Amino acid sequence: MQILDGKIVALAVKNEIKQQTILLKNENNKIPHLAAILAGTDGASETYVANKIRSCEEVGFKSTMIRFDIDVTEETLIAAIKKLNEDDDVDGILVQLPLPKQINESNIINLIHPSKDVDGFHPVSVGKLVQGLETFIPATPFGVMLLLKYYNIETEGKHAVVIGRSNIVGRPMSILLSQNTNPGNCTVTLCHSRTKNLEKICMEADIIVAALGTPGFLKAHMVRENAVVIDVGITRVTDKTKKSGFAIKGDVDFVNVAPKCSYITPVPGGVGLMTIAALLKNTFAAATRKIK
Ligand code: NAD
Repeated sequence: MQILDGKIVALAVKNEIKQQTILLKNENNKIPHLAAILAGTDGASETYVANKIRSCEEVGFKSTMIRFDIDVTEETLIAAIKKLNEDDDVDGILVQLPLPKQINESNIINLIHPSKDVDGFHPVSVGKLVQGLETFIPATPFGVMLLLKYYNIETEGKHAVVIGRSNIVGRPMSILLSQNTNPGNCTVTLCHSRTKNLEKICMEADIIVAALGTPGFLKAHMVRENAVVIDVGITRVTDKTKKSGFAIKGDVDFVNVAPKCSYITPVPGGVGLMTIAALLKNTFAAATRKIK
């Protein structure tokens, strides 16, 4: 069993972007600029955005963090997005989800200009992804693809089972794995909360991507020998032994599943770090596409 180490791969991706950023600055006098919008004070969202901003600094990007209270109105968010769309210095806009209840998330996401949609959630980006055109790939599935590529994992002709059909993880993941690319060329089964015989389907998988948000869901009896298991899940579980008061748990029962796998991602230290690396790649691409 080999660990797919998000720390190693994310660092490699970041180092490459750092070098490319120096070149871009020297040759085109351009520094990639990411603007992040955060509404409310959800602890996990605060951490995610802080990590993204810190990572921008690490690779030499500019970043702007725009904060709103939990009772922000949709009109205020719309005005903020419009301003960022018009700001030539801003290359990428990300809106940390979930947004407060009174906000219609689609109204906000759909307003981001597709050329700045570094999260890849805009319908234009999704449409291009489905057609295999160049676009911004949602950061988490993009990060998984980078991880598979780095470790040279054979995917062609394999049966991949993706658990979870969300727009940000499961569905784009299933599309990417099915595409005629490397990694890719899998035969994909997309499972969700209404799927019957999930255990049997998982047992037939060469590759399993667990993205449902239920800690320890994927058990050893659902995984066949030598499977590749990618754990996307991130759930905060109360843990009084930790200073923070919580532990981060993935969707895979790692201790019992890992011995059966050929490759597996840990949580933390796996897909989460790759998500940020992929977001930086998208932001760099947004900055350079503008120059081309
Ligand atoms: P979501 O709640 O939007 O979607 C969950 C999906 O899982 C749904 O499609 C649902 O049908 C499916 N599902 C739920 N219970 C199921 C069951 N018993 N059997 C089969 N399918 C079931 O969640 P999401 O936004 O896609 O996130 C999923 C997990 O990934 C969460 O833990 C989230 O925190 C994590 N996540 C991690 C990263 C990262 O960077 N590693 C990024 C985004 C999300």
